[in-house]
Amino acid sequence: MGEIVIGGTAALLICAFLSPKFISFLRVREFGQHIREEGPEGHHEKAGTPTMGGIIIFMAISAPFLVLTDYNWRSVAVYGRARQPCRRCGTPIRVVRQGEQARSTYWCPRCQPARSAR
Ligand SMILES: [Zn+2]
Repeated sequence: MGEIVIGGTAALLICAFLSPKFISFLRVREFGQHIREEGPEGHHEKAGTPTMGGIIIFMAISAPFLVLTDYNWRSVAVYGRARQPCRRCGTPIRVVRQGEQARSTYWCPRCQPARSAR
């Protein structure tokens, strides 16, 4: 729980302090919107507004996640690895088939315990 609060706060601070610099960077590099002359009159005032501002949000969320956790794609991947050792803790991966279509769910019983067992 503490990691979530720290990560969220870090993401907020990264956005608050780096967004103005990032937007300036985008303006200098001319990553702004180009409005065509035949476009609606109201759109011309948006000319030069930087696009791709979502990149800073993505980076602000990703950086704390990668720093504060030991998760990465390889360590959390369990799908299709029934009875093989968990890459994180070595416990055999379990699988259960659920529902009428027998959909499979894979999990590590040590890293991903049932909510009632936490
Ligand atoms: Zn595990």
